[in-house]
Amino acid sequence: MRTIRLGLFNIMLLLLLAAAEGMIWIVSASARSVGAKNVIVMIVDGCSTEQVTLARWYKGSPLAMDSILTGSVITHSADSVITDSAPSATAYATGYRTTNRSISMGPGEQTLSTVHPPPPELRLKPLATVLEGARLMGKSTGIVATSRITHATPAAFAAHVPSRSTEHTIMEQMIHQGVDVVLGGGRMYMSGAAGGEKTGNMSDLWDVLRTRGYRLAEDRAGLMNIHSGKVFALFSEDHMVPEIDRSRIAPHQPTLEEMTQKAIDILSKDPDGFFLMVEGSQVDWACHANDPAYMVSEILMFDKAVAAALDFARRDGRTLLLVLPDHNTAGFSIGNHSTNGKYGRLTVEELLDPLRKMVASSGFLWSQVKNEQTPDHVKSVVRQYWGLDITDEEAGRILELARSFGSAPHNAFGRVICPVYTCFGWTSHGHVGGDVPLYAFGPGRPSGVVQSPDIGRITFRAMGLDSDRLNARLFVEARKAFDDGTVEIEKSDGEKTLVKVRYRGKTAEFTVNRDGVRMEGRSFTLEGIVIYVVDTDQLYMPVQAVNIIRGRGGKLPSIAAEARSSGAAANRGD
Ligand SMILES: [Zn+2]
Repeated sequence: MRTIRLGLFNIMLLLLLAAAEGMIWIVSASARSVGAKNVIVMIVDGCSTEQVTLARWYKGSPLAMDSILTGSVITHSADSVITDSAPSATAYATGYRTTNRSISMGPGEQTLSTVHPPPPELRLKPLATVLEGARLMGKSTGIVATSRITHATPAAFAAHVPSRSTEHTIMEQMIHQGVDVVLGGGRMYMSGAAGGEKTGNMSDLWDVLRTRGYRLAEDRAGLMNIHSGKVFALFSEDHMVPEIDRSRIAPHQPTLEEMTQKAIDILSKDPDGFFLMVEGSQVDWACHANDPAYMVSEILMFDKAVAAALDFARRDGRTLLLVLPDHNTAGFSIGNHSTNGKYGRLTVEELLDPLRKMVASSGFLWSQVKNEQTPDHVKSVVRQYWGLDITDEEAGRILELARSFGSAPHNAFGRVICPVYTCFGWTSHGHVGGDVPLYAFGPGRPSGVVQSPDIGRITFRAMGLDSDRLNARLFVEARKAFDDGTVEIEKSDGEKTLVKVRYRGKTAEFTVNRDGVRMEGRSFTLEGIVIYVVDTDQLYMPVQAVNIIRGRGGKLPSIAAEARSSGAAANRGD
């Protein structure tokens, strides 16, 4: 049978890849549940141990994270020693290592010399995520982020695209994934107007949500009025504002702690359990900008969200909580060249005093400077918001650098100011390649040094899911499944990509990135989304769609039952 053949095929692929990469261990086909009813994955983007140390000094007492440190994570992607957020989140979401910029799709051909190129069948193939698996098990699912929810990290849990920048497509896919609770920023991608990306079927995305019974909110008050059901709340057009600027410019936006608590309150009403991904999205951007106060405020708010999740997990007893960065950014250090001769006498006051005077992000500083780019004005803005009296020369240098920094002019503030007025060091404005700390609590929690894809596999295993069977069930290559029929890809008006499958005189129609099929005047909602990959000209659809078209009916055994018997079935080799 075709579906089983694909299942075995995928298992072989996983084994090949794992062997090729020298994984520390792999989850066997007989994935045994360790009894995690709920899983919460919390990702602090662009962070590492040294940043956490500064946040702890600033807070003056241990962080919630401190109590659950268990190991560290090796973060490189398939094609770079330094990862970007897309492959890192893909590894955490799917258990596969992929190439930079890729959102839960198999790697491209170019890989590191130490990483074997992927087998052709895996190249740019959609990879099932832990969120999709949880949903098929009947669990509720949620995504919370302080970025646009279509940004790389949240996207990797509920979308499949070769490039993280196609955020319209990501939004359309996420909405058709039926995620129960979605909280974050990014209204701009609900309509077809933003950016240069070719827009798809955007006009009716809000209608899709209303039809599916979502409750919508766009500020804290609206969110706090919702206590159950499906929720889709985007609090800003673009990213949400930095925590350090929130009370000044967007007090109506909820905090990450409030969003996390609300998501847990709603999702935990599901007797089948839930999967929740939470991202503290902006530590990364603070580090990119070499902006220490923005960075610390984001880490401390993320830690409050961790405290809320940890409190739930401790009371619940059946929740696996994983807390980890996806990579480090900008090589932050406590100590820089100005401390070379005196680090042996560095006081807490010297460490923290400059930070305590900084009450706005460098992005906010630039918003105050950009329309009056004179050294005097720069000096007065820095004095007002960072509490520092910088020199004319330094102000001039900030303006000069800002003009050369293109889309990130605000990076100039930290670049000029930190080496002189703080004891914070930075090595770059980009990501860096070191291991990152792993914090974990609950049944099935990992420890020691793990590879980034292990995080995805650990999550699948904790829920008792076999990712190979899930992949085989959600992403069947349509041209192979219908080698006795025809599959036509059609683009109407450069908009909706329509797909027609003709099989024994019947025509089934799909709109890609969505979860439905129309055939002979009837519409069916599928248990997964239909993905078309332009580069490989491959179409992927759930087994359920294949069965409907072949007249086998659309009903499949529950994945929970499959999960329970997966060990035996997968090993049987049928
Ligand atoms: Zn980054």
